[in-house]
Amino acid sequence: MNSEIKLLMDKSIEMIKSSKTIYLCSHVQPDGDNIGSLLALGMAIKKLNKDVSILKVDEIPKDFLFLPNIDMIKEQNAVETIDLFISLDNGDIERLGIGKELALRAKKIINIDHHITNDNFGDVNIVIPSAAATGEIIYHFIKEMGVEIDKDIATCIYVAISTDTGSFMYDSTTSITHLIAADLMNKGIDLNEIIVNIYQSRSLSRTKLFIKTLNTLEMLCKGKIAVVSVSRDMLEECDANMEDAEGIVSYIRDIEGVEIACILKEVEDDEIKISLRSKSKINVAEICSKYNGGGHKKAAGCTINKSIYDAKESILKEIYNYIR
Ligand code: 5GP
Ligand code: MN
Repeated sequence: MNSEIKLLMDKSIEMIKSSKTIYLCSHVQPDGDNIGSLLALGMAIKKLNKDVSILKVDEIPKDFLFLPNIDMIKEQNAVETIDLFISLDNGDIERLGIGKELALRAKKIINIDHHITNDNFGDVNIVIPSAAATGEIIYHFIKEMGVEIDKDIATCIYVAISTDTGSFMYDSTTSITHLIAADLMNKGIDLNEIIVNIYQSRSLSRTKLFIKTLNTLEMLCKGKIAVVSVSRDMLEECDANMEDAEGIVSYIRDIEGVEIACILKEVEDDEIKISLRSKSKINVAEICSKYNGGGHKKAAGCTINKSIYDAKESILKEIYNYIR
C-alpha cells in the first residue's frame, strides 16, 4: 500500500470515527465482492462500537445467504441526517439504485473501489484498479483501522476476493492476493463451506437455463466471438431468474479460440443487460463505456435500451471494430 493510499485510508477512518450515522450501500445486482466487502467493513465498523447500517438496494443472490451477518444488509428507513455514506465496489453513483438518493443526501461520501472506470464520485476516493477485488482493499483498510480480522470478517473478504478473481485465475491476481488469502485461511475460515455454497450449489432451474442458453450459442468472426442470449420467455420456461444466467458468459469465453464472449439478457422488452468477457488483449471495459457501462479490461457490462435484436446488432458492430 503506497503512502497516498494510506493517507486516504487514515482520512476515511477519521471520518468513520467522527460520524454518528453511517450508511454502507450495496449496488444493483450485487456480486460476491460487493456483498463480502460490505459485510466485512460493516462488522469492522461495529467493532469500533459505532452504529452502522447497510442498505440493500437489490436482491442478494442465494449463494451468499450463508455469509455471517448477511441480515445486516437490509432495506432501511433512512434517517434524515446521514453523516457518512460509504460505497463499495461500485464504479458510478447510478449503480447505487435507490441508494443514490441517500448518497446525495449524505454530508460525506467515501468511495472504495477497484474498477478502472470509477468516476471518483466520492469526497474521498480510494480507487485502486490494480487491486484484484474491493475485498483486497477492504482487507488493508480494516488492518489500518486497527480492528482484528476474525473468522467472520475473514470469510466475507475471502468470498469477495475468490469470486472477483474467478477463483484466483484472473490477471489481477497477484502474490499479494495470495498472501491475503493465506492470512484469511489462518483465521480459521471454513473453506469447504464457502466452496460448496458459492460454487457447488447450482439449482436445477439454473442448470436448465444454462443448457437452454448454450443452445443459443453463435460463433462469429472465425470463432473469435461467442454470443448467447437469454430472453424472458426462457426464464419462465426454466422457472429461473436473470441472476441464474451468471457464469454462462465465462463458460463460452473458455471455448478454444474465443477472444470475446457476449451474453445479452432481456431484462425488459427494451432493456438489454450485456456482459462481455475477453480472454487476452481486448479491453471490453472500453467497449462497454461506449454505452455508459464499464468494468474491467476482461470483464465488463452495460445496458442498451433497445430490443434484444437491435441491441445485439449494435454491440456486435462495436465488438467487430476491436476484433479486426
Ligand atoms: P457483469 O458482466 O458480471 O455484470 O459485470 C462485470 C464487471 O463489469 C463487474 O465488475 C461490474 O461491476 C461491471 N459492470 C457491469 N455492468 C456495468 C454497468 O452497467 N456499468 C458499470 N460502470 N460497470 C458495470
Ligand atoms: Mn469487484
